[in-house]
Amino acid sequence: GVPPAPGVTPSTALTIAGSDSGGGAGIQADLKTFLACGVHGMTALTAVTVQDSLGVADFLALPPSLVAAQIRTVAADLGVGAAKTGMLASAAIVDAVIEACAQTSIGAGRSTPLVVDPVAASMHGDSLLAEDALAAVRDRLLPIATLATPNLDEVRLLTGVDVTSRDGLRKAAEAVHALGPSWVLIKAGHLAADPECVDLLFDGADFVELPGPRTGTPHTHGGGDTLAASIASALSRGCPVPEAVRFGKRYIMRAVAGAYPLGAGTGPVSAFW
Ligand code: PLP
Repeated sequence: GVPPAPGVTPSTALTIAGSDSGGGAGIQADLKTFLACGVHGMTALTAVTVQDSLGVADFLALPPSLVAAQIRTVAADLGVGAAKTGMLASAAIVDAVIEACAQTSIGAGRSTPLVVDPVAASMHGDSLLAEDALAAVRDRLLPIATLATPNLDEVRLLTGVDVTSRDGLRKAAEAVHALGPSWVLIKAGHLAADPECVDLLFDGADFVELPGPRTGTPHTHGGGDTLAASIASALSRGCPVPEAVRFGKRYIMRAVAGAYPLGAGTGPVSAFW
């Protein structure tokens, strides 16, 4: 990302997500990514997690009305070039976000593109989304997504499609696309046996493969958030979806290549450039 010239208003991006006290994922990852991409980042906080490199010990979800008010307030004054959702915690928050997005023209076919990262659990398996909230994401949020970015665990939870090899990615993309997002990016990072990491983009008509190396690092905390935030950054600058996704893939490859150990567990992807 190129930093804006002094005194010039940059593009703006909004993350609707949870806080990670460890600083590696959630809104902390999103803000670092927005900064690195030269975009002014804004936050609608959904939940506060108590988290370190070993996992999520506890979290508190904020009142849905407060989440919606954050979205409406920044949209009215600052303007939102692109938005992304991460941890949404509860069904009531999902529905509040959907309503606030409708009021602020955020979502597919509206003026502001929306990236939905359907976060269900941390990489350590800690739930970040209540069970009834998964249905709300699937049935009501995904239909207003410009782009959905599920990993293979989330594909299985949302559609029942279980992908175990690269061959299954197209079926996964079709199944998620049928839930309503305009575009789907299936993240292949969890196919650990594959020597490459070939993500798949689908708009209901054409498949685009996004190849990349597999580094083998265990330190990928915040990787999903960072990818979605870098894509949202490019969208906020007016990039079409395929170019924004290619930008995001390049960004996350660098972030994973620079990932570092921190704490006794899983370190974060890098935001140092
Ligand atoms: N904590 C928060 C607040 C998040 O939003 C996320 C992912 O979206 C995570 C933790 C999980 O990150 P990871 O699975 O990379 O550990």
